[in-house]
Amino acid sequence: MRNDAVVIGGSFAGLSAALQLARARRSVCVIDAGAPRNRFADASHGILGHDGKSPQTMVAEARAQLQRYPTVQMLEGVATSAEAMADGFEVGLADGISLHAARLVLAFGISDVLPEIPGLAGRWGKSVLHCPYCHGFEYGGRRLGVLQTMPVSAHQALLIADWGPTTLFLNGADMPDATMQLQLARRGVAIEPRPIAGLCGEDAALSSLTLADGHEVPIDALYLAPRSRLNSPIAAQLGCVLDDGPFGAIIRTDAAKLTSVPGVYAAGDAARAPHNASWAAADGVTAGISLHQSLVFEPLPA
Ligand SMILES: Cc1cc2nc3c(=O)[nH]c(=O)nc-3n(C[C@H](O)[C@H](O)[C@H](O)COP(=O)(O)OP(=O)(O)OC[C@H]3O[C@@H](n4cnc5c(N)ncnc54)[C@H](O)[C@@H]3O)c2cc1C
Repeated sequence: MRNDAVVIGGSFAGLSAALQLARARRSVCVIDAGAPRNRFADASHGILGHDGKSPQTMVAEARAQLQRYPTVQMLEGVATSAEAMADGFEVGLADGISLHAARLVLAFGISDVLPEIPGLAGRWGKSVLHCPYCHGFEYGGRRLGVLQTMPVSAHQALLIADWGPTTLFLNGADMPDATMQLQLARRGVAIEPRPIAGLCGEDAALSSLTLADGHEVPIDALYLAPRSRLNSPIAAQLGCVLDDGPFGAIIRTDAAKLTSVPGVYAAGDAARAPHNASWAAADGVTAGISLHQSLVFEPLPA
């Protein structure tokens, strides 16, 4: 059976796109591997009407609502390939199934590539954080750190200082230039240049950073901007143009969330920077509605 659309990735972006298509009475199949980017956090914040809810609960509720529509099919699995055909696209899954669709939505998200510092990865989403708007309020007024991972980290420290007393941990990297040092000093940001040996604290909590020389710096939360990678090579396989985003590759889209390949839309973290769940959902809405209108006004050859 040929679907009107196949959506690769069934989280904030993909489910939002599929919901618009379902409400337009179009057949849509959502393939999802079940590993949304924020699965490490116990609570999601800053999402209107859902502030503080667990990300898994939000996605499960959205999925249950979507499945009430008769034209929706949800598949658990991993899409491994996609190819343009004369009349649309063929998508291959890891378990050997193949699906056909007139249009595609790429909503497979990104993965964070975390620095290899002992004790860091296990605290990701709990006391090691990427976004103060998502998780800053909970650490307001506490002892905060920013880990230097890329040139933008000093700028991130200027911002984080709004939530509490902040130290920029250079972890052996070069000192910021004189202008930035002055800006950091004006914001009250301390600079710790020494390399970090590890993170300490009970369970997922953070109480200090241990430096390579054995010195301990007390701290309650550490922010960092990680590099990221697209979760799937499918955009590249299809020939979609990728751009260098501030954190890693992103799929280029226009205002309608159409990629450089006709019939292929992209939404969510894979196709934007900066990131959050509301933006991902909003992009999914744009992609779903644009895709539906393309089926009406720009049909591909049958
Ligand atoms: C630790 C952490 C905490 C966060 N907290 C917040 C917060 O509090 N508030 C907020 O607004 N934002 C938060 N974010 C950001 C938020 O997680 C992302 O912006 C959002 O998840 C992006 O949605 P998405 O649908 O684009 O991608 P994702 O949610 O990452 O979903 C992508 C989906 O595609 C699936 N997938 C991947 N490859 C394939 C494939 N080949 N085939 C099939 N399926 C595939 C994945 O398994 C996943 O289910 C947080 C991020 C992190 C890292």
